[in-house]
Amino acid sequence: MVTSFGAGSAQGCGDNGTMKTIRLRAGKERSLQRRHPWIFESAIERGGADSGETVRVEGHEGQFLGWAAFSPSSKIRARVWSFVESERIDAAFFGRAVASAIQARTRLEVHSDGMRLVHGESDGLPGLIVDRYGDTLVAQFTSAGVERWKAVIADALLLHTGLEKLYERSDASSRGLEGLPESTGWLRGSGATDLVLREHDWQLALDIAHGHKTGFYLDQRDSRKKFAEHARRLQFQRVLNCFCYTGGFTVAALSGGAAHVTSIDSSGPALVQAAANVALNGFAPERASFMDADVNASLRQFAQAGQSFDAIVLDPPKYAPTVAHAERAARAYKDINRLAFKILEPGGVLFTYSCSGGISADLFHKIVASAGADAGVDGFITERMGGAPDHPMTINFPEGEYLKGLVVMRKL
Ligand code: SAH
Repeated sequence: MVTSFGAGSAQGCGDNGTMKTIRLRAGKERSLQRRHPWIFESAIERGGADSGETVRVEGHEGQFLGWAAFSPSSKIRARVWSFVESERIDAAFFGRAVASAIQARTRLEVHSDGMRLVHGESDGLPGLIVDRYGDTLVAQFTSAGVERWKAVIADALLLHTGLEKLYERSDASSRGLEGLPESTGWLRGSGATDLVLREHDWQLALDIAHGHKTGFYLDQRDSRKKFAEHARRLQFQRVLNCFCYTGGFTVAALSGGAAHVTSIDSSGPALVQAAANVALNGFAPERASFMDADVNASLRQFAQAGQSFDAIVLDPPKYAPTVAHAERAARAYKDINRLAFKILEPGGVLFTYSCSGGISADLFHKIVASAGADAGVDGFITERMGGAPDHPMTINFPEGEYLKGLVVMRKL
């Protein structure tokens, strides 16, 4: 049921006229003037508000810079909703933002009934992630601002999608940084939490209540397609899918005709789901084997045993959430890439990824290059991959570029 969201919403902060104000230190206005939405604790000279409350952000001379959601315990102390002084941050504002994010998706090429509808800052809604799986929406509220407006946003999501079911997965670790407790369960409607997604030529079952993130990695959709195309064109015989999660790349390779795929993950439940996904698509069980193991150790074992593959996927978890972790993460990325190059057949292809915000595309390229050099292997970089287009980065928010990948074909 869609409840109306008009004036007098529970938030009671729809009137910018009575707003609290935060004033920035001299010289700290620059990034807001360039329309970057984050205000760090260290940039604020004075002022404050309750968790999620809308504040007027002023420069050192008192000039208007933006309307932002205040977050008293986060290092990112405020996130900007709007840079337009005349704009009211009220239910209608959230209705417009949600409608515009959904409208933008209609112009993107997505071959799936699973799609990211709202991608946080890139869609003007800092801290909000919304994925659609068929007729079910799954949302993560990871900032104080969207937490405060949760009911209004939930209603807007139903209104603008015409759907009735919205599940909340606000259990990301980033909620802790905002001083917010975990919150999961049905926000609107109810129904099954084990769903089946149709993507490209295959189906993938997922669990929105217990799976990673909102249940699945929609951001790798285009890479899975590319992998299936390579499997078909190059007639993969032995494929290795490292960090396979629920087997997205495994199913893609089998769909492309790969003879056999070995899939590794350290999560037992993910592997059970991966095996089920192979069966769901009608592939013979002999074409897939699963290892509940550590990828690094397994790659070493393959190298020692002289076992090689003609296609390898490396899609590890986020080793470097921020640049502060970049150095150690770089070593970890280099290690797995070096080992993968060692067991890659000449002419074989490596699909290698980093989803770390703290590792730039340029740095990732250098890491992979030095891994290849150490392994004594050279290759052609045939593709540069990014997140699927429904996970956009924007010109003003380069942090939106978190996922990067390279397709490297080992020289013959
Ligand atoms: N490629 C997947 C997503 C991978 S997410 C897809 O397209 O859906 C990263 C995965 O790495 C998770 O499933 C996690 O369980 C697994 N993982 C993390 N550390 C690991 C390790 N050391 N060895 C094996 N798997 C690991």
